[in-house]
Amino acid sequence: MDMFETRIRELEETLKYHSKLYYDMDAPEISDMEYDKLYRELEELEAKFPEYKSPDSPTVKLAAKADEKFSPVVHQVPMESLADVFSKEELFEFDSRVRASLGAYYEYVVELKIDGLSVSLEYENGIFTRGSTRGDGQIGENVTENLKTIGSIPLRLKEPIEHLEVRGEVYMSVKNFLKLNEQQEIYEQKIFANPRNAAAGSLRQLDSKITKSRNLDIWVFNVQQIRGKTLNSHFESLEYLKQLGFHVIPEYQVIGDIQQVYERILEIGEMRGELPFEIDGVVIKINDFSQREQLGSTAKNPRWAAAYKFPAEEKETKLLDIDVQVGRTGVLTPTALLEPVRLAGTTVQKATLHNIDNITQKDIRIGDTVIVRKAGDIIPEVVSVVEKYRQADAQPYQLPNLCPACGSETVREEDEAYVRCVNAACPAQLVRNIIHFASRDAMDIEGLGPALISAMIENDQLHSYADLYYLNPMELISLERMGEKSVSNLMEAIEKSKQNDLSRLIFGLGIRHIGQKAGKILARQFGSMKRLMEAKQEELTAVMDIGDKMAESLVEFFERPATQKLIENLEQAGVNMESNFALTDTRFQGMTFVLTGTLPTYTRQEAQKIIEDFGGKAASSVSKKTSYVLAGEEAGSKLKKAQELGIPIIDEAEFDNMIK
Ligand code: NAD
Repeated sequence: MDMFETRIRELEETLKYHSKLYYDMDAPEISDMEYDKLYRELEELEAKFPEYKSPDSPTVKLAAKADEKFSPVVHQVPMESLADVFSKEELFEFDSRVRASLGAYYEYVVELKIDGLSVSLEYENGIFTRGSTRGDGQIGENVTENLKTIGSIPLRLKEPIEHLEVRGEVYMSVKNFLKLNEQQEIYEQKIFANPRNAAAGSLRQLDSKITKSRNLDIWVFNVQQIRGKTLNSHFESLEYLKQLGFHVIPEYQVIGDIQQVYERILEIGEMRGELPFEIDGVVIKINDFSQREQLGSTAKNPRWAAAYKFPAEEKETKLLDIDVQVGRTGVLTPTALLEPVRLAGTTVQKATLHNIDNITQKDIRIGDTVIVRKAGDIIPEVVSVVEKYRQADAQPYQLPNLCPACGSETVREEDEAYVRCVNAACPAQLVRNIIHFASRDAMDIEGLGPALISAMIENDQLHSYADLYYLNPMELISLERMGEKSVSNLMEAIEKSKQNDLSRLIFGLGIRHIGQKAGKILARQFGSMKRLMEAKQEELTAVMDIGDKMAESLVEFFERPATQKLIENLEQAGVNMESNFALTDTRFQGMTFVLTGTLPTYTRQEAQKIIEDFGGKAASSVSKKTSYVLAGEEAGSKLKKAQELGIPIIDEAEFDNMIK
């Protein structure tokens, strides 16, 4: 194999790998700009060495595919991709190709390119009947129920048009994206790289309640098929879609001349930062439908449209200072404070420095002239230092040894890039700690949400978890939006939480490295808080699945006088300190369980062991005799079979209730 063929194979593989992360898992590792650069390199090599081009190269076939957890939808009209252009020169080349086919007279519709995920919506006699994702362009995923939770998708059109399929982009506003990531951080869930991935991850859920909670929105931008009405141009169809009640893509314009198209693109680039949602470029499309037909499509893209992708912008500015904040998880995050600079349509004054390793590696110092970049992501970053401008007295940067919020010593673990404050009573972490304590998987105190917790802390009513059990209802009534009814519901929920199993309390305490599963194992093994607190490191590591790090963290946590005081206060308030779990119980006698998919905390073997401990049986296939199917993430054919046979399907939370 020569070096060009080797490089072509290498690029194919890399692009397929990143496409899988991007399309299937909604969790990219590289920026779109980096991806596009690799894609371009492959395209160019394939043009030079066509003999090495694979039939399934990512340049030929969309590397995305529909996930089997959704039922498939065959797109009658393929949901095509768009050819990209990255510069004025390429834009004009595209126009020349169009002119060569169409002659002098044609017009473009210039639209915002929304950075979300493409969906198809189908209507019969004006009623929304089916919605799907793009998938590989030919076969998509049926996400009808999830789409129904998006308020801006009309379920009934203003006219009962016989048959209509439209295409649009489901997106998440920047505001909702930032809010979602803040919440994900509190609950230690996946942080989304950008609004596109957040939108895709939120729509491609099995539980439409999750989709609903994510506040997605849609911009509709195309008629895919229509019966019962004739449309001759794209502009006409967008106007008609508005009449029908769709949320039609904003700011579109009909422009005849390519120079004016380019000026409009620059204008959109400038206003980009002020839009409440993300765009990654501008789409230009031939307006007239008969001219579109004349131009036709390649295997992947229509020849009548192009996507102008905005370049990532980089600028020089001065690093005035480094601000260190303590996040809700205790991580110290350094942020660059900059001399204001205009970047990708916004004025930038702050940029992320990620972590201390990044600062040290790039040798970023206060007072330096730095290059800042905004590339697809919302938050700009410091890319590098312009060393020639460095002041002679600039000192290498070090993070403070003491937590800026509470003054306790910070720690850095060997395999971590982060420095943290581990003081459970650190005020910067209090809101997050209490949210965690009250969360569904921990003490499950309904009605105690982030806003209320923050208000109680501000009002000096909460300083630790234990304070929850000593609240004065009369004082709560004075809080905003707290009526008599909500106070009494809250007090009831707090009272009820006292009876929880010990495992919930252990998890709720937020001990580092001790998750929900470890909470259950420890409660089962030690039986009471007292015994757990007395356990030595060796006793802890002797327990299956409790590693050195966990054991160390437990010993260190329970040694602290603040912890002992906290547990004492909780106990005095009547919080249960015993495990309700009895090992001699045979409640699953005669029952058969089938496990499918990945459970949030148990491995298959663990769940099986619990079932067997209770006298039940775990089988590998679903039949009429199956009592329950315990289903986790990415459950496949067994789940379907259970649905067909009407076998009760339970998730881990329900399973936990059964074994309480
Ligand atoms: P694309 O960027 O080539 O553009 C096509 C998409 O634009 C359509 O599917 C449509 O949903 C959307 N769109 C938004 N507004 C539109 C409008 N007004 N009119 C028409 N379409 C509109 O998309 P693609 O083919 O899905 O993906 C290719 C791109 O995805 C790459 O260029 C790359 O940037 C990105 N990607 C990134 C990674 C990564 O790892 N970061 C991996 C794979 C792909």
